[in-house]
Amino acid sequence: MFVDQAKIKIKAGDGGDGAVSFHREKYVAAGGPDGGDGGRGGDVIFQVDDNFSTLIDFRYKRKYVAEKGQNGSARNCTGKSAPPLIIKVPRGTIVRDAETGRIMADMSTDEPKILAKGGNGGKGNVHFATSTRQIPKFAKPGFPGEEFEVNLELKLLADVGLVGFPNVGKSTLISVVSAAKPKIANYHFTTLSPVLGVVKVEEEKSFVMADIPGLIEGAGDGIGLGHEFLRHVERCRLIVHVVDVSGIEGRDPQEDFRIINAELEKFNAELAERPQIVAANKCDMASEEQREAFRNFVESQNLPFFCISAATTQGTSELIQKIAEVLDTLPPIREYEPDPIPLAELDEKAGLGQKFDITVEDEVYYIEAPWIEPIMRTIDIEDYSSMQYFQRVLINSGIIAKLEEMGINEGDTVNLQGFEFDYIN
Ligand code: GDP
Ligand code: MG
Repeated sequence: MFVDQAKIKIKAGDGGDGAVSFHREKYVAAGGPDGGDGGRGGDVIFQVDDNFSTLIDFRYKRKYVAEKGQNGSARNCTGKSAPPLIIKVPRGTIVRDAETGRIMADMSTDEPKILAKGGNGGKGNVHFATSTRQIPKFAKPGFPGEEFEVNLELKLLADVGLVGFPNVGKSTLISVVSAAKPKIANYHFTTLSPVLGVVKVEEEKSFVMADIPGLIEGAGDGIGLGHEFLRHVERCRLIVHVVDVSGIEGRDPQEDFRIINAELEKFNAELAERPQIVAANKCDMASEEQREAFRNFVESQNLPFFCISAATTQGTSELIQKIAEVLDTLPPIREYEPDPIPLAELDEKAGLGQKFDITVEDEVYYIEAPWIEPIMRTIDIEDYSSMQYFQRVLINSGIIAKLEEMGINEGDTVNLQGFEFDYIN
């Protein structure tokens, strides 16, 4: 079964807890605190694996949880960090935050992407001894790992998408120009999933072609199978529109051509702008008049026109040469940029109810609040509204109030998740 959409939950591991422990040694009376920190929780990492071509596995397993970091232990031993949980997905999978629809990653390259970060470990009691508190009987629990519900959507990576009505010969074409072997038969909807084929042009030159099945009138509105597959045309750099010019099934090629283009446009207006080459197929069965009438129609729209017979391979190498030539002039396959975390959406409640931990060492206020990292990444310190927003996060979370309570002074150093700045109120 071809599955190209799924919704799953991912959760990174929580950090391990800090330990409470005291140094013990023969003949040494009261040892100091030596409870170590907890280890980091495991990240959830996505990675492309070309052995997968659909998202079907995610229909059966929907929850992915990385391990918790190990707790700290005596003798100032830091707990082991948990290994990452690696989720393998087919190339072209787009990951979105289900809550906001924000694109978190486009899994098109081999670069692994961390989509949920493990929580930091809690500090052990070794950190909490002060001149007035020599026996700290407490440690901090680990921080929670990030957690998301995500929508996965596969948008195949192909240079060229073959579109056209059922039975016009798309599968036949891809099977004669590449090693792909889709099912071919004289009835509609024999192809039930997009098929990718690599077309070799010259020794060192090739491109990827996708057979997009099942487009019919109404596909853009979700009729037939077509709408299921239209998303796979979205990344194609070039569309090859296959039309049955023989009209052997009692269809009118010009009308077919218009209907399919209207469906593409309805699905995504950008698709109407995509460069297109028209392949009039079944030329072996068509009369001279049929071919010429269609040629005139297509050329009057300034589109390249090729008469082919996929079944006998007549004209297919000229078509392939032209496709390669046009591809050379086009930008590479589209990759989707991750969306920034939307400031406006978070605005009011930003920081509310979030946990943090502040410790003072050598007059530096260390704030541990892993949840703030993704927010910090989106902040532009040159931008007033962005800084105002950041200020609100610090207030809402209670960080400012806590710093004041701890007696922070104007100009003291604050270290927020490794980022240092002077405290200004
Ligand atoms: P698809 O639905 O667009 O993938 O169409 P198929 O490739 O499955 O082809 C549908 C039918 O048309 C099959 O019976 C093919 O053998 C036939 N066919 C495909 N190309 C040609 C062609 O160039 N000439 C003729 N006469 N028949 C063809
Ligand atoms: Mg087919």
